[in-house]
Amino acid sequence: MAEILVLVDHADGEVKKVTFELLTLARSLGEASAVWIGPGYEAAADKIAQYGPAKVYVADDAELTGYVVAPKVETLQQLAANGAAAILVPATAEGKEIAGRLAVRLDSGVLTDVVGVNGDLVAEHSIFGGGVIAHAKVTKGTPIIAVRPNAIALEAAPGSPAVEQVSVALSDAAKAAKITDRVVQEKGERPDLTEASIVVSGGRGVGGAENFKVIEGLADSLGAAVGASRAATDAGWYPHQFQVGQTGKTVSPQLYIAAGISGAIQHRAGMQTSKTIIAINKDPEAPIFELVDYGVVGDLFQVVPQLTEEITKRK
Ligand SMILES: Cc1cc2nc3c(=O)[nH]c(=O)nc-3n(C[C@H](O)[C@H](O)[C@H](O)COP(=O)(O)OP(=O)(O)OC[C@H]3O[C@@H](n4cnc5c(N)ncnc54)[C@H](O)[C@@H]3O)c2cc1C
Repeated sequence: MAEILVLVDHADGEVKKVTFELLTLARSLGEASAVWIGPGYEAAADKIAQYGPAKVYVADDAELTGYVVAPKVETLQQLAANGAAAILVPATAEGKEIAGRLAVRLDSGVLTDVVGVNGDLVAEHSIFGGGVIAHAKVTKGTPIIAVRPNAIALEAAPGSPAVEQVSVALSDAAKAAKITDRVVQEKGERPDLTEASIVVSGGRGVGGAENFKVIEGLADSLGAAVGASRAATDAGWYPHQFQVGQTGKTVSPQLYIAAGISGAIQHRAGMQTSKTIIAINKDPEAPIFELVDYGVVGDLFQVVPQLTEEITKRK
């Protein structure tokens, strides 16, 4: 069966959910092989085995994580030489950079923002800010496919993968940018924005930093992540790392709730592949209502607290 390489996305000992989505997808395309780069595989081995890779390549030399993305590119390049049918990476900022660099090295094609792939390796991907769904296939070399987090429904398939140690001799070019320091970002209780299955976002309609607690209250009642429009982040009401949209994060949760957000094309670009979209806006003509599954015309300061209360009561 054709081998499909999957780059494991992990940080601080935690394997990102998108890895399991990629393994689920890879199993539908051929024989999944996970590629672990950096120290710490042992602690993650059981979790990875739950998603059915036939093999795990472990390149655990600490040097591989001492530089920015180039060592990951060289590791995948080395493994691709065994004749992989495709290489799957997450469509995150780092994953897309790896995909682009790897495509140059392998002289092959790359597809980004993919939301599905069929057995013939035809990818469905979201382009022009999510406004168009296109089908595309790489016609030259090993296809490199960057898949959006949350696009693939998880399916566990517990197994016992074969583990193969890999050693990679890094080129001098791969050592051109060294990581000199790492600061672990303090994590709150809420799920990661790009991985959350529910996201509640606030926009200019929220009216100020202090009022964002209304959005956070609803998010916490649902176990959701909090997002914000650029109007809200530019105003300093919410940190930029939570901005959703063309110049912010791309999210694709099961449920996206937009409160006080008009639905500008640049905001839609980051959330319109969400499975179910709800908007709360006091303007019935707001463009966001064109793409929602459910729309509430009303003042968010009345609607959101009532919603939070109802949800909390039912828990
Ligand atoms: C190159 C470029 C990149 C950009 N990238 C992004 C991006 O990544 N993400 C992004 O979000 N934007 C981005 N923008 C900005 C985008 O064009 C919009 O300006 C922005 O999305 C508007 O944010 P908003 O919907 O919160 O504000 P507005 O458009 O001002 O809408 C506020 C909405 O709140 C409603 N409202 C007001 N008060 C209440 C209330 N009490 N209750 C209920 N509803 C209320 C109003 O009716 C209105 O619809 C980008 C723009 C450019 C040019």
